[in-house]
Amino acid sequence: MMLIVLCPKCGHQQKTNPQKVISAVKTCVYCGHRFKIHSSIKKSRVVKRV
Ligand SMILES: [Zn+2]
Repeated sequence: MMLIVLCPKCGHQQKTNPQKVISAVKTCVYCGHRFKIHSSIKKSRVVKRV
């Protein structure tokens, strides 16, 4: 299952693999900004589950 996450800096949406990034840091593929992704969907920047 993939997640769609929103970069807080540039606002781009991108797919990510939850097994690798839950409770970890993701680097935005567009601007290089690093942000946390949480297992809780309310705290995370997950836009939706795919
Ligand atoms: Zn970005």
